[in-house]
Amino acid sequence: MTIKAYGAHASKLPLESMDITRRAPGAHDVQIDIAYCGVCHSDIHQVRSEWAGTLYPCVPGHEIVGRVSAVGARVTGFKAGDLVGVGCIVDSCKHCEDCADGQENYCDAMIGTYNGPTPDAPGHTLGGYSQRIVVHERYVLSIRHPEAQLAAVAPLLCAGITTYSPLRHWRVGPGHKVGVVGIGGLGHMGIKLARAMGAHVVAFTTSESKREAAKALGADEVVVSRHSSEMAKYAKNLDFILNTVAAPHNLDAFLTLLKRDGAMTLVGAPAAPHPSPQPFSLIMKRRSLAGSMIGGIPETQEMLDFCAERGIVADIELIRADEINTAYERMLKGDVKYRFVIDNASLALPPQNQDRKPS
Ligand code: NAP
Ligand code: ZN
Repeated sequence: MTIKAYGAHASKLPLESMDITRRAPGAHDVQIDIAYCGVCHSDIHQVRSEWAGTLYPCVPGHEIVGRVSAVGARVTGFKAGDLVGVGCIVDSCKHCEDCADGQENYCDAMIGTYNGPTPDAPGHTLGGYSQRIVVHERYVLSIRHPEAQLAAVAPLLCAGITTYSPLRHWRVGPGHKVGVVGIGGLGHMGIKLARAMGAHVVAFTTSESKREAAKALGADEVVVSRHSSEMAKYAKNLDFILNTVAAPHNLDAFLTLLKRDGAMTLVGAPAAPHPSPQPFSLIMKRRSLAGSMIGGIPETQEMLDFCAERGIVADIELIRADEINTAYERMLKGDVKYRFVIDNASLALPPQNQDRKPS
């Protein structure tokens, strides 16, 4: 069927309204009418081909929530009317060691929700800035939050799991002092989740304007990382650091804040590399530098349930689809508290906003 979507036809063009098609649900497929879709910084990297290799038209969006409108004959876990989510993964090989472990995010054949190969037109996957999506049931998540919170649940599908997974992997909990670097969409979820896991949280931001706001999110302490005198107070002080920054920066400044055996996990994926850290930042105190990519499907369900039980959602600013180009510019300036979420009902309306920027 043909549906409305918002996407770009080339890396230097703004996003605009377009028609796309979705397959009819196969035996194992769930068809979802999308209510809301969060706006991740990865959407900007991808739609502008900052990571190279973007296929056009590109319809971003991998923080998808909505209601099931049809299911295939062999679907057992979902029925029409269910509240569900789809994150960054819509397929994988289903039989490798990573898939068997429920770590589909590390499967070599993992198919992203957008820009991944598919037999469906136009030959690559198209994401959640659209009215509807059809996904194999293995990659569909149940949402147990109240429906009134649905828009604010959307960012959990990427920002939530991308921060939850490394916090769990590194066993963050009571007695740990945890740094969260970069207080954007991912970072603000990192603060909420580390706090909910019982850690003492120190937020590191480049934005003076977030000093008080980060405390309201649950940070016990806030450091403006541009001030070296503030940074110096935290030398050899932290057990773990979750670094979400979307741009290249000096990693040594943060590695040296770790205690002996401390670790910093990078989840930020800037288009250009970070300067390589000094070996002594790692050798001294036996520190580790690690990375992490989203999370597997079982862990994403675990994270959604963890958040539903505790009433945890993202702090969002709801926008119409035709405000997306302006939203991107504001994100690049760090001007969002803390996640834009598209109201997908707006896709059916005529565009009101002339926010198309010149290329
Ligand atoms: P975001 O909302 O734009 O937040 C990024 C934050 O980084 C900014 O709010 C800012 O926080 C900080 N920052 C400092 N200097 C910056 C600069 N020069 N340019 C941009 N940001 C700067 O982005 P996000 O959606 O949280 O995503 C963050 C990064 O994670 C992106 O690179 C994204 O692609 C990546 N990502 C990775 C995964 C994964 O699986 N590993 C999943 C999703 C996203 P302050 O104002 O507090 O300094
Ligand atoms: Zn994302």
